[in-house]
Amino acid sequence: MDLYCTTCGEPWDLDTLHEVEGESFDSARNRFVIEGCRLFGASHNRPADTETAEKSAALFMLLGDDVDAVASFMEDFQ
Ligand SMILES: [Zn+2]
Repeated sequence: MDLYCTTCGEPWDLDTLHEVEGESFDSARNRFVIEGCRLFGASHNRPADTETAEKSAALFMLLGDDVDAVASFMEDFQ
């Protein structure tokens, strides 16, 4: 399942959060909500998919640390 960058809407596999060096999963998740692609050393897509990014940001706000639920809802939206 994928999480989507809250800035540009780029999809990232949920498991990628486990691979962020020097960060626990929870810490990587918290940073992803704010930094999106930048957490993985990537640049944001231009032009951004703002609709997807806004949905993702809203779900993170509603569901907080339940990334499985966020990913699941995003899958339904696609
Ligand atoms: Zn991005």
